[in-house]
Amino acid sequence: MVKKHKTSKYCSVFQIELYLIIKALELIESKNISRRITICLSNTCIAEALKKTNSTNYLINQIFEKYYDLIETGFQIDFKSIDINNEFLKQTEESAKESALSHNRIDLDLIPISYVKKTIIDRNLQIWDNRWQTSDKGRTTKQFIESTFERRKMKKYFQPNYYLTQAISGHNNTREYLNRFYITDTNVCLTCSSKVDNLWHRMYECNKFEEQRTILEEEVKRESFVWPLPTKVFLNFKIINSFNNFCKYVFKN
Ligand SMILES: [Zn+2]
Repeated sequence: MVKKHKTSKYCSVFQIELYLIIKALELIESKNISRRITICLSNTCIAEALKKTNSTNYLINQIFEKYYDLIETGFQIDFKSIDINNEFLKQTEESAKESALSHNRIDLDLIPISYVKKTIIDRNLQIWDNRWQTSDKGRTTKQFIESTFERRKMKKYFQPNYYLTQAISGHNNTREYLNRFYITDTNVCLTCSSKVDNLWHRMYECNKFEEQRTILEEEVKRESFVWPLPTKVFLNFKIINSFNNFCKYVFKN
């Protein structure tokens, strides 16, 4: 006997398998085929979940309720973990495909909490990024990190420090920045005289840092990037250590 059930696309495999146990228990009750039944479980997560008698999961509680109802009326029901072979897996996959096309009625449409959480997190991340894109703050940082999504990708390897932060924030010891606060009399580079001493001058053209820039440029080319490197690529995981070394020299006190 084959029974087909359809779930919404939001349901997790865990939910679907629990739901099928409920349906199996209902079938045992309604058909009354045998008083002694073994339900085979191929998913060890389900077997473990069913051992937790204090579970707050709605579907697991339904299973317990139905299970004890049946036990009280004289059924003997055992759960057994089994390994399924490829042939069986193939058959069930084909059967599942058939079921998906057989009707449109959805039997189970519970949305797992993990899906709800992910939807809320994704939405909040989008709001955060919209704020980042539309804000007129952090203009220098935006040239290094174009979106909050990019920044999240960097979190495994990017540890801001005293030197890198001076570069990517624009708050640094360049004469242009110091001159804004009247700490220096002029914003002009002491080495290149006619050029304004700012972050971009130090990164791309200042004669004072030519040797360090050549080392950085060689590293950039070794990693198959081109020089001059676009600002947004300096924090790439292949380049960031070399850029950090460059910044250590350029922004040291
Ligand atoms: Zn200079």
